[in-house]
Amino acid sequence: MRKEELITMAHGTGGRMTQQLIDKVFGTRFSNPILDRMNDAAILPVGGGRLAFSIDGHVVSPLFFPGGDIGKIAIFGTVNDLAMMGARPLWLVASFIIEEGLPMETLRKIADSMAEAVKQTGVQLVGGDTKVVEKEKGDGVYVSVAGVGIVPEGRNIDASNAQPRDVLIVSAPIGNHGITIMTLREGLKFDVEITSDAAPLNGIVEDLLKAAPHVHVMRDASRGGLATVLNELSSASGVGIEIDEDTVPVEEPVERACALLGLDPLYVANEGVFVAVVPPEEADAALQAMRVHPLSKKAVKIGEVVESHPERVVLRTALGAQRIVGPLSGDLLPRIC
Ligand code: MG
Repeated sequence: MRKEELITMAHGTGGRMTQQLIDKVFGTRFSNPILDRMNDAAILPVGGGRLAFSIDGHVVSPLFFPGGDIGKIAIFGTVNDLAMMGARPLWLVASFIIEEGLPMETLRKIADSMAEAVKQTGVQLVGGDTKVVEKEKGDGVYVSVAGVGIVPEGRNIDASNAQPRDVLIVSAPIGNHGITIMTLREGLKFDVEITSDAAPLNGIVEDLLKAAPHVHVMRDASRGGLATVLNELSSASGVGIEIDEDTVPVEEPVERACALLGLDPLYVANEGVFVAVVPPEEADAALQAMRVHPLSKKAVKIGEVVESHPERVVLRTALGAQRIVGPLSGDLLPRIC
């Protein structure tokens, strides 16, 4: 069989290959006006209102890491995808694929963590499924979580809504989650422990939309990192994006770990960081509202939407040069979430 006809790890990183996989295998077969919008959650017209509906599978390795575990990011991942559409997350269901031989205690720890995350986000887990596969046919446990939320009237958030002059705000320093997993896997030790940024975003989103009700787009910078997400937005909206390198927040230990591992923090996954695309007249109010919240107290403007170079993301470097930043390619960061 030709190599192009086999799934590779690069298909799982959330970058260019993942996009191609989704477009060619699923997009063509299931095309409909809701799916084709390719948002973080599908928006469904129901009984005069709107529901947001989303699912996310988790295969992170290892199962436990500083700042989180597979269960916690599975709950937050779906809650965050719903929140990114302006929805109030309400109900979740979970599916567990468990490998024979997994200690019951491990599963209990994951369930405890999920229960805490459910409480923290104010949602309910209302259903689920468990399946068991033979030893060595899984990797401990895989967790998928689907969820629904209600989009309050008046909110209109969509990946295609970015307009020239809109301001780009990133909610927190980037790269912590991915670097936590990578350093753990590589057995690297630093003087300062790096912790996953895994966090629920629904609370911040409510405060943000109160202060800046006309936010055009939100997206959590999960797999593929900030660069990939910005590319998705610029394509969906048919606009250009420009960001300033020296405004993109990266904590010093993450920057050092990235240098050591040969990674660009722009491509490293986050589990509690999002980008908001805000009309210029609401940008200050948005920043203020976000900075009150402990999870986004370092929120900062990183750039803006432009009319020139549509569907391209351009980075202005500290030295005044410009370079195009594409979506993540290759398979440097497998099994990160
Ligand atoms: Mg997302």
